[in-house]
Amino acid sequence: MSEANITWSHSGLKDFEGCARRYHEVKVLKNYPFQETTHTIYGKDVHKAIEDYGKLGTPIPEKYAQFKPVVDAVLNKPGRKLFEHEMGVTRDLQPCGFNDPNRWVRGIADLLIIDDDNLSAKVVDWKTGNNKYPDKDQLVLMSLMVFTHFPHIRQVKSALFFLVKESMTTHAMLRGEAEEAWWRYRERVAKLEAAHATDVWNPSQSPLCGWCPVATCTFNPKH
Ligand code: SF4
Repeated sequence: MSEANITWSHSGLKDFEGCARRYHEVKVLKNYPFQETTHTIYGKDVHKAIEDYGKLGTPIPEKYAQFKPVVDAVLNKPGRKLFEHEMGVTRDLQPCGFNDPNRWVRGIADLLIIDDDNLSAKVVDWKTGNNKYPDKDQLVLMSLMVFTHFPHIRQVKSALFFLVKESMTTHAMLRGEAEEAWWRYRERVAKLEAAHATDVWNPSQSPLCGWCPVATCTFNPKH
C-alpha cells in the first residue's frame, strides 16, 4: 500500500499504538469482524436518542430521562447545532468530505456548535461508558478538524460528557496551537505509515490481550 493511501482516525491510530498486530488483523485484514455488545448497542441507542431530540425534537425516551438536563444545557448554548457532523481532512490539511478518496484523516463530531458571532465552536462527544481513563486526544483531533473546516473559527472548546457517570473532561484550543498539534499527529501517523510500508506488525503484550479477538497470537490467553 502506498503512503498516499494510508488513512487514519482517532480510534484507528489508538488501536495501532495499542498493538500493531491486532490493528493489522482487525482493521487491515478484517479477519475479525466487529461484534456488537450490549454496551455498544446501548451507546448507539443513546446517541440516536440525543440526535433525534436535538435535530427533530423527538422526546428523549423515558429510559434516558436522566440525561435530558445535561443535553438541554448543551443545546441551549448559542450557535448553529450540527449533529453527527462528519469531517475529512487531506494530507495537506485541506477540508474534504468524510468519504473523499483523498482524505488523510476523518472523524465525526457527535455535536458541533458553531457560534459565528463569537468566532468560536464547541465540540461535544457523548460517552456512555466509564470515565476512568478519559481520552483528551479525541478532543484535540476534533478541534483540529473544526479549524480546518471552519476557517473563521478562532477557538474550539470541547468536552467528553460521561452521561452515566455525570462527569466531563474538557479541552480548549486556539487556532494558533493547531500547527504544532498537527505535527504531533504527523509524527505518530508516520509510524503507522512505516508499518504499512514494511508490512511489519509487531505484537504488544498487555493486560488487554485477554480481550483481543486475535486468537492466533501467542500472547492471547485463548491461544
Ligand atoms: S493478543 Fe495481545 S499482543 Fe497479541 S495481537 Fe492481541 S493485543 Fe496484540
